[in-house]
Amino acid sequence: MSGRNALTAYRGKRHFDRTAEPPGEQPPAGETPCFVVQIHDASTLHFDFRLEVDGVLKSWSVPKGPSADPHDKRLAMSTEDHPLEYREFEGVIPAGEYGAGTVIVWDQGSYHPLTRKKKGRTRSFSESLADGHASFWLDGSKLHGGYALTRFRTGEGPGKRESWLLVKENDDRAGRRGTPDAWRARSVRSGRTLKRVAAEEAAERGDG
Ligand code: MN
Repeated sequence: MSGRNALTAYRGKRHFDRTAEPPGEQPPAGETPCFVVQIHDASTLHFDFRLEVDGVLKSWSVPKGPSADPHDKRLAMSTEDHPLEYREFEGVIPAGEYGAGTVIVWDQGSYHPLTRKKKGRTRSFSESLADGHASFWLDGSKLHGGYALTRFRTGEGPGKRESWLLVKENDDRAGRRGTPDAWRARSVRSGRTLKRVAAEEAAERGDG
């Protein structure tokens, strides 16, 4: 499943008359695929790691966030595909709505697949993901270099959440920086922290 039809699960979870999140109606643009990492202060604080693939953002929830240290194996739970416009979403998802809480865009940029041949044939990036292993090079403001996503448990049941590991490759952009502090982290788009975004939206609603 790809493109707009891949967004059925995303749309089914949300009320677009109540949340400012995008419904995903704009066609994809641009040739270089993008990635985004959001910090989401939902029922549990997590990072959302998203890669543009076939016109949507393939998405993983990463509780501890990405690490530049190849020794860190970061759990990444697959979540529903998001529309491309979601890469710009920063704000507060209202109480009672799916994913209620504050979101900031922690990092954004472009990526390119690090292709590996299987049986002499070059696989597409989406084929690699479907097979459960894909590596890619990130050119972000904060994240740089090769990373790999590897699935270690397939999803069961209606939600079908898969368990993956997000790991830095051992290249010249590897480092010792571990977990970013989600509360101190600032948006790459606005320079704001989670608390600042929450306070500004509360003030706009008149209850701050
Ligand atoms: Mn999230």
